[in-house]
Amino acid sequence: MEKTSQSIDFASLANLLQPGQLITNPVELITYEVDASIDRGTPDGVVYPQSRDDVSRVVRWATEHDVPIIARGAGTGLSGGAVAENGGLILHFSHMNHILNLDIAGRSVVIEPGVVNRNLDEYVKQNGLYYPPDPASSRAATLGGNIAENAGGPHCFKYGVTTNYVTGLEIVPSDGGAVQLGGRALDYPEYDFSGLLTGSEGTLGIITKAYIRLLRYPPGVETLLAAFDTVSDAGDAVSALIGRGLVPATVEFMDQKMMVIIEDFAQAGLPITAGAALIIEVDGYKNSLSAQMDEIAAVLHEHKVLDIKMAQSEDEREKIWYGRNNAAGAMARLAPAYLTLDGTVPRSKLAPTLTEINQICERYAIQVAYVFHGGDGNIHPFLLISDLSDQELMKRVHDAGYEILETCVRHDGTITGEHGVGIEKRAYMPLLYNNDELNAMREIKEVFDPRNIMNPGKIFPEDQGAREQGGMGAGGKRSKGVERQESRGESNACNKITKIHIPGSTEDACEIVFTSRNINQDIRIRGGGTKSSLLPDAEHVLQTNQLNGIIEYAPQDLYVSVGAGTPISELQAALTNHNMCVPLTSPWDKATVGGIIATNFNAPLRMRYGGLRDLVLALTVVMPDGRVIRVGRPVVKNVAGYDLTKLFVGSHGTLGLITEATLKLNPMPRNRASLVVPVEDLELGLQWNHELMRVCLAASALLLCKGVKGLSDAPHTLIYTAEGLAEDVAAELLQARGVLEVGGVGRVDQNHTLSGSEVWGHWLQADEKGSNGVQKITSLVRVGVAPKDLPSLLKILAPSLNESSYIADLANGMMYIQNGGDLANIRAEAHKANGYAVRLTAPKHMIETTDHWGYFPESLELMRKLKLRWDPQGLFNPGAFLV
Ligand SMILES: Cc1cc2nc3c(=O)[nH]c(=O)nc-3n(C[C@H](O)[C@H](O)[C@H](O)COP(=O)(O)OP(=O)(O)OC[C@H]3O[C@@H](n4cnc5c(N)ncnc54)[C@H](O)[C@@H]3O)c2cc1C
Repeated sequence: MEKTSQSIDFASLANLLQPGQLITNPVELITYEVDASIDRGTPDGVVYPQSRDDVSRVVRWATEHDVPIIARGAGTGLSGGAVAENGGLILHFSHMNHILNLDIAGRSVVIEPGVVNRNLDEYVKQNGLYYPPDPASSRAATLGGNIAENAGGPHCFKYGVTTNYVTGLEIVPSDGGAVQLGGRALDYPEYDFSGLLTGSEGTLGIITKAYIRLLRYPPGVETLLAAFDTVSDAGDAVSALIGRGLVPATVEFMDQKMMVIIEDFAQAGLPITAGAALIIEVDGYKNSLSAQMDEIAAVLHEHKVLDIKMAQSEDEREKIWYGRNNAAGAMARLAPAYLTLDGTVPRSKLAPTLTEINQICERYAIQVAYVFHGGDGNIHPFLLISDLSDQELMKRVHDAGYEILETCVRHDGTITGEHGVGIEKRAYMPLLYNNDELNAMREIKEVFDPRNIMNPGKIFPEDQGAREQGGMGAGGKRSKGVERQESRGESNACNKITKIHIPGSTEDACEIVFTSRNINQDIRIRGGGTKSSLLPDAEHVLQTNQLNGIIEYAPQDLYVSVGAGTPISELQAALTNHNMCVPLTSPWDKATVGGIIATNFNAPLRMRYGGLRDLVLALTVVMPDGRVIRVGRPVVKNVAGYDLTKLFVGSHGTLGLITEATLKLNPMPRNRASLVVPVEDLELGLQWNHELMRVCLAASALLLCKGVKGLSDAPHTLIYTAEGLAEDVAAELLQARGVLEVGGVGRVDQNHTLSGSEVWGHWLQADEKGSNGVQKITSLVRVGVAPKDLPSLLKILAPSLNESSYIADLANGMMYIQNGGDLANIRAEAHKANGYAVRLTAPKHMIETTDHWGYFPESLELMRKLKLRWDPQGLFNPGAFLV
């Protein structure tokens, strides 16, 4: 029976809270009926939690009483996410709005969910730091809402979206117990549930704390306005800029209608006689700004620009942004309501998509205006609604909306790039995802929220028929892959006979998985085999080396799709010919794209470009029951449903077999140089590091190396690499030299060929081969802690590592130790600093006796539940990870 406000036992809830924390007065509840979308619903009550314990108590109570819980930040959401459409209890986070801890040197911040986006950015800016995700609603929207929606903004073209900055979360799932996911260190050995929760719209758990990484605030910025005759000319110019390998900080797009509306409201100086305009901003060191702008202007001139106007002062720049960010407010003067869509398409499809959207709106006689993130292909058509109660008009608006999003999906885009699905787009989810994909998301929901009390009804389409299972295995094609048998008696006490399968396609792989599942036999997934030495044998080995090669190379859209068995080295060699790269590196020649994603093996250069979780846009995955799902899309913004790509990064093949991957492309850095500094005294070297961390903007490595041949004669060597535009590299290395000089450094060598990540890769590879070139697998341990804690950890561990060689990746809080140290002691010290130490390789005699992980994440129970749900027989990569 549906509960009514009268039948809910609010007295028992009030007993758990302080006076004033719960409101149930119907008049006061009216404020909470809406967010910024056109959806409506009255909650039964609102609670203002002050702490995580409040949240836990309320969630436990709600579960016991079967009352829906809807988290709310500022209520600026544009898809009805914070609307209590079927009643329930709203948790309003306005009181949990504290910045808990800012770590300036380590560049991270811990916050409560009610902190307002702009307040955070302004606070960290005072300390020279930068939080890039900047939704146009940043003056009001909260970080909790941003994380739950995976919000983006104008600067996400260069810097990425919210998920790229969330390293950890504390959440309260529906059982009321708090769970920490990730944290301040990177790459914790656990499923990336903080990546999964980001963008989950409050349907999996309540966010009570977030760990956020920050960047250095760029020292300079310049902004221009470019006017075009037509929308499609402006769209072509965006594609051309990107195709040329330019990376401005923003590329924002407005059509004429929108410019007139904004100009009327804000007098921002927009070119209202033009058909469309772009706001392009570049940032970096002062010397590089004009060089970047000259190059951009040259491309615009080649693409029919009518006029280019540079902002001449900070005032002028602010005016432009004020206008852009208040587009929604300006629209409100024209019509009492509007439907904002935010489908995303690969950027090269912008111009044709805009033409189609205009035709759709014309056909439905709907007025439309645009302002959107052109660089991301994230289109915001605003469909004007003159009367919300006009049923006929509303039907036309929704029908036009459906066709617009269908158009985006047809162009290999998505139904929402940043506003979320909520109520508004749930019916459109089947446009994008098939039943298997939707069911995979539903199963996650059931693992986290079995009673369905967390924001129920949001995201998922109501159609029950969708639960029918697909899966290609049953009716799949006959395998064309290779199959052979191998006895693995030597290394396996059970003397298992191992069948080796080499599928040639996703369908082949799917059939192999399906067959082995039916006879209950386990499968070891093998990429390049670089990690397999650590793993026990299995009845079937599924080798990915024939899932090889580039499937699609899309430089204008900055992505490349490849077979998962493609060696990274081959991919990079192919891309180098086009002056492009995927900012990944692996020490091992044979390492495959699938293997590196599954093991989440990141090089030091992730400090500049992000880690694998940031670089993988989409994956094709065969699940343990033979279902094939495509997760993510080849666009930089997709917030439709759960971000399943994050689950497969670093889950060591225990949740699925990756057969194809789509990765972000980057233009090859035009310039790169490194400073190499001999370090006689470790303490002093760590002080230099502390100061150098403040400088890092174009830096792609900051390493402290011991025992790495060919660097210096000193006990340790510091390496600082910067890459990017020549002007930025030169300016940064000059600053770094200045820091070192003040620190009393005697000798600094500048090297134009060496890069920190290559030094790291060669060191790992050399060890593996041994001095005589013969394969010699030794012990390699990776430690991860918050970057601020690595120097003190290093000081504690150094005396016991005299015989070892190591590289401390100081900016990322990682340390790699070869051949040495007492693992138990290293782990104990890492755990004290809320970090971890895992064994990456080991000689044969150690394999069976060592626990490679030594780590029990708070999410282990949830991990096990998900594994059990997707792989109840435990057949995929047994023993490869914690589950
Ligand atoms: C004028 C305007 C401009 C906008 N521009 C942009 C833009 O450029 N980019 C962009 O991405 N969005 C934009 N938005 C949309 C909106 O501002 C974002 O989605 C924002 O992230 C919502 O934050 P909020 O605090 O208002 O969240 P709310 O609207 O309160 O909630 C949004 C969702 O988050 C969930 N949630 C909130 N807090 C928590 C929590 N602590 N734990 C779990 N779930 C939680 C809610 O349940 C809901 O599902 C804009 C909106 C407006 C009105």
